[in-house]
Amino acid sequence: MNVELAFYGILASSIAGLMTLIGAFPVVFGKRVSPKVEDILLGFSAGVMLAASFFSLLNPSVELALSSYENRFLTAVIVAFGLSLGAFIFFLADRFIPEDYFVGIDNKNSKEIKSVWIFILAITVHNFPEGMSSAIGFMTGDISKGLTLAVGIGIQNIPEGLAVALTLVAKGYRVSRIFWVTFLSSIVEPIGGVVGVLVFGFSYVVLPIGLAFAAGAMIFVISKEIIPQTHKKGYEMEATIGLLIGFIVMMVLDVTFG
Ligand SMILES: [Zn+2]
Repeated sequence: MNVELAFYGILASSIAGLMTLIGAFPVVFGKRVSPKVEDILLGFSAGVMLAASFFSLLNPSVELALSSYENRFLTAVIVAFGLSLGAFIFFLADRFIPEDYFVGIDNKNSKEIKSVWIFILAITVHNFPEGMSSAIGFMTGDISKGLTLAVGIGIQNIPEGLAVALTLVAKGYRVSRIFWVTFLSSIVEPIGGVVGVLVFGFSYVVLPIGLAFAAGAMIFVISKEIIPQTHKKGYEMEATIGLLIGFIVMMVLDVTFG
């Protein structure tokens, strides 16, 4: 293993991960929000992560598998497998994590709090293959490619940090708690970086499945938990506009820097 490249790779995934915290910064100004604003914020978060699933997880997964296997059908099967697996694991999480783990804040009910935490878990999980891919970018030996990839991932982590933070703001969590959660979700990125360096030789197998897995988890949670939650109080239109704005912001960032 090239130790120098491994070092740069892990360093890059750490910095990219910490950029998540920049995204959480606006919550310093956050206050308790009305149910309408809550639905808009959750919709925005869902839109950000939906676009991330396509542009920063599924797209690179397809590209990687295609360049390794040079077979479009095999690529589709691999990506479909990873995606189904991610959705299935989160189906199990959704089914078997009991609701009474999640004591509601004030009058928020524990069912809603649970779905918010499963959403944050999905965002956290997706940081893992993302950290892997930024470290692996360096391991290929092409420093400028590694750097471009890491900068891209770092930049798209900003709205993702915002997605985590806004989701918690919407549920009335304290600022200090929000920063801790955002930080914990971001350190999964360098952990992914370390694993990426270690499995570099097998990355052509592990990485496409890992990226698709994360996308499957995300799409499951957004459809099962987040969107229905934002449509319960009569603000479907506002939540939909929030989702579209989040999707567009993330897509512009991913296409520009991806
Ligand atoms: Zn991401």
